[in-house]
Amino acid sequence: IIPVIAIDGPSGSGKGTIASLLARHLGWSLLDSGAIYRLVALAAEYHQIPLDQEAKLSELAAGLDVRFIPATEQSPANILLEGQSVTDCIRTEQVGAGASKVAALPQVRAALLQRQRDFRQTPGLIADGRDMGTVVFPDAPLKIFLTASAEERARRRYLQLKDKSPDVTLTSLLGEINARDARDTQRAIAPLVAAPDALSLDSTSLSIDQVLKYILDAAIQ
Ligand code: C5P
Repeated sequence: IIPVIAIDGPSGSGKGTIASLLARHLGWSLLDSGAIYRLVALAAEYHQIPLDQEAKLSELAAGLDVRFIPATEQSPANILLEGQSVTDCIRTEQVGAGASKVAALPQVRAALLQRQRDFRQTPGLIADGRDMGTVVFPDAPLKIFLTASAEERARRRYLQLKDKSPDVTLTSLLGEINARDARDTQRAIAPLVAAPDALSLDSTSLSIDQVLKYILDAAIQ
């Protein structure tokens, strides 16, 4: 049975950074499940499908033409949607908001389930998302629920975005993070919640290295 480390938590908790460092460190595959929901939202925009048309969106999700090209020593990871690189444009707050809308649709989630499970390949998988430990990989031997205060998450997002989008402010990011948290935790399907067997870790005042060490120590046990 192929090992999985499931890392779930709210947006901006540092999951993405931690998951990709862990995958590189262990030489395991990486599933960025949030990127998949972002890709559905972006593809819906390309194909002019309104974000409340569940049947059409689930069809789109089922047939999504995506390639994830892992990072190498020479080049960063790349994501292709219908053959075009969308690595940066799926990261905007606008696409993130669209992702959380399509992610609330049960048929869309169902259409994406097997695609996510297919990332489980030897020697192992780091799975980053909201429902990795609860729905997609309930048998994962190690589940981490990574949190941080909303203020700290807004501050981290701000540092990531400020050079690329000079008009972004800390206050607007905090508002968006609170809105997304509310949508993700209150939705009827796969709400953001720690799996009963997950280890919860609050990263508000931890460095990236401290979080990595905590997870690697837990993985050895
Ligand atoms: O993690 P990221 O911010 O890229 O995720 C974008 C949105 O996709 C989240 O706000 C959430 O609504 C949704 N999502 C989800 N289940 C996952 C990963 C992401 O519902 N496993």
